[in-house]
Amino acid sequence: MSVRDVDECNDYFSKIQPELYKNFVGFWTQHQRFTKRCNPTTCSKVFIVDGHQKANRLVCQYKDVFDNSIYELGPVQMGCLHSPLRKARNVDHRYCQLHQPKIVTPVNDESIPIHQIVLENKETTLDKLALMEYVDKDGHYDDALCNVFRSGINSKLKISSYGFLATFLSCSVIVGFTEQPCSEGMRRVLHHILTILRFGQLPNAMCYDCACTLKLFINRHFGSNDLKSTDSTQFLTSLTMAIDRFHVKNHKRPICKTVMRPDHPCHNDIYASINTQVAEQGFSYLSKFKNSFRGYSYPKSTIFFTVLFHLKNCTTTGISSFEQAV
Ligand SMILES: [Zn+2]
Ligand SMILES: [Zn+2]
Ligand SMILES: [Zn+2]
Repeated sequence: MSVRDVDECNDYFSKIQPELYKNFVGFWTQHQRFTKRCNPTTCSKVFIVDGHQKANRLVCQYKDVFDNSIYELGPVQMGCLHSPLRKARNVDHRYCQLHQPKIVTPVNDESIPIHQIVLENKETTLDKLALMEYVDKDGHYDDALCNVFRSGINSKLKISSYGFLATFLSCSVIVGFTEQPCSEGMRRVLHHILTILRFGQLPNAMCYDCACTLKLFINRHFGSNDLKSTDSTQFLTSLTMAIDRFHVKNHKRPICKTVMRPDHPCHNDIYASINTQVAEQGFSYLSKFKNSFRGYSYPKSTIFFTVLFHLKNCTTTGISSFEQAV
């Protein structure tokens, strides 16, 4: 393999990426056994999920890319992470090499668009079903209630932007991340969490700025074909969930003012000594590298993040990167 050949490198990165991520998650979810620096009272006690929606990178606008790797969810609409062809001539600049309209030719012009519309709306429809009591008669979310939640698939502005979803443990160690072309829908968040659970374990308490919506989603869809009941998803139903302290003040639903608060008595102080801002701090660290991200497109970007987070975690925990190779 030549490191100067972009295609060969990308093939190699695509090939090693799943195994690398699996090892990354597997190692860091059990770092409590190896850490030299974590505070024992906060190490691996709570996990914090956070999304980051910076439009710092354009991605292909082709939406009909599905991931079927999580049995419980079935196919989840992921979109395409590749960069659109911005500079080439005679191509559609909205799409990547693989999804040029010339290549993705509809077999039957009339049946395909209808099919696409149905698929495009599935994630949004499931989110809306879960939030039925908060959706007005025109089908819009009642923003006065929890103004933090937006379904990205609805939002035209975000269509070509790039987002990032990450899970941190309460000791700042990052245990998983997903690069995502569309923004958060609840099944995308569940896909991220269930992928981590395939390779490692998570503590049974979580913090998330849309925890209210996620909880309503699980309550509504657990046991259905869109969130099948297995040991991994049982874990979700028994999970303690709260909104982080910083975002909770923007939440207006009755549950957000009671049981979704991290300091509510029903949580038995599990969040008491936890810094729920570790995700914000992690992302601000990440933003130092934003010029590097811009130049890296998928799959190189994923490899870059895995190595970067591994080294960051090594520093956080005092584990030498030579001692424990990913
Ligand atoms: Zn730790
Ligand atoms: Zn594409
Ligand atoms: Zn809320």
